[in-house]
Amino acid sequence: MKIIRSPKEMQNISKGYLNISIGFIPTMGFLHEGHKSLIAEAKRHHEIVVVSIFVNPLQFGPDEDLERYPRDEARDITLLEELNVDYAFIPTVEEMYPVEPRMKMQMIDRVAVLCGRSRTNHFDGVAMVVTKLLNIVKPTHIYFGLKDAQQFAVIQAIIEDLNIDVKMIGMPTIRESDGLAKSSRNVYLDEVERAEAIELSRSLKIGQRLLTNGEKNSEVIIQAVKEHINETTSAEIDYLEILTYPELLAVKKINEDIVIAGAVKFKKARLIDNLLLTADGNIKQWT
Ligand code: AMP
Repeated sequence: MKIIRSPKEMQNISKGYLNISIGFIPTMGFLHEGHKSLIAEAKRHHEIVVVSIFVNPLQFGPDEDLERYPRDEARDITLLEELNVDYAFIPTVEEMYPVEPRMKMQMIDRVAVLCGRSRTNHFDGVAMVVTKLLNIVKPTHIYFGLKDAQQFAVIQAIIEDLNIDVKMIGMPTIRESDGLAKSSRNVYLDEVERAEAIELSRSLKIGQRLLTNGEKNSEVIIQAVKEHINETTSAEIDYLEILTYPELLAVKKINEDIVIAGAVKFKKARLIDNLLLTADGNIKQWT
């Protein structure tokens, strides 16, 4: 595996792979099984696999966890080597943003809901870095986890709006054995919170079961899910929403594909989770 620090060098390498399929997995590092599943899938399909590790300051709000975001580059590199990744692209902030950007990307659709509501400008920062990374790595395919369902929907909109020549692959959420979605931020949880955190995924399943049993009123489902979280955890609910997917529009009566998504705040960790479901409550396969 080659470790590349310079965007220019990465770009030159990618240019050399004309007509060769490149699978790309952008990450913020502190890699876990969720990231691994994306990499393993890319390895199955592409001649060249590139993984980036970059904690993008543009997508963190002033009160968010940019400084204390967990990092362990040495461990990540070992893991990427074990997975036979071809290139680890690990630029510094100075290399990615040598000058203060003279332009900004502003998402106007798919961002007034879910994480976008409280994380103002978050998806503008994501839009900027993903567009830059696509221009640097020039992949044929880019892999994302559907755990970040809104991120997937937003990036899909960018790729369509800008006619970017890349295919997006959305991968299912990898979970701990008790159901908690794997996340680099899970390390922030104390012991009691870790035990409570599984209730987020449990609550979404309660919502799913209601839908499967014929409850089509999204408000009724949302209330039941919220009640479960409030009764079983000390966490504060940031949001709990049912929206069409990937358009992310409000839905009263469920008769199409939806996402049921929640974010809860523990003392030091804000956790998100979701289920992508058909109108009948079955897990939606994303290909
Ligand atoms: P991050 O490092 O958190 O920015 O995540 C990098 C990529 O890994 C994103 O596309 C995430 O959606 C994906 N990812 C993170 N956690 C998981 C998970 N538990 N299961 C599947 N994909 C994940």
